[in-house]
Amino acid sequence: MDNIKEIYIYSPSNMPVNGWLHACFTCREYTSRTLLFANQKKDDIEYKFYVHCCPRCKRTHSKIDKYEEFTKKCNLYIYNRYFSLTS
Ligand SMILES: [Zn+2]
Repeated sequence: MDNIKEIYIYSPSNMPVNGWLHACFTCREYTSRTLLFANQKKDDIEYKFYVHCCPRCKRTHSKIDKYEEFTKKCNLYIYNRYFSLTS
């Protein structure tokens, strides 16, 4: 059976790291809502990247340019921070 590691992505804020409320990655509003952005498997560990995204920002994802902007930002963040997982 695979190990699963969940990684949460959000904007920096004063919220406790271990809490469930974090700043939306796009607009920094506090939200507990997340969306599963990506899965990455490495050395028998499955990494799941969840991005904190408030309902308002999520609604803008129906516009393709907004969604592309969002995915670009997420991918860049993952690439910069978790490069060893993506290579
Ligand atoms: Zn937002």
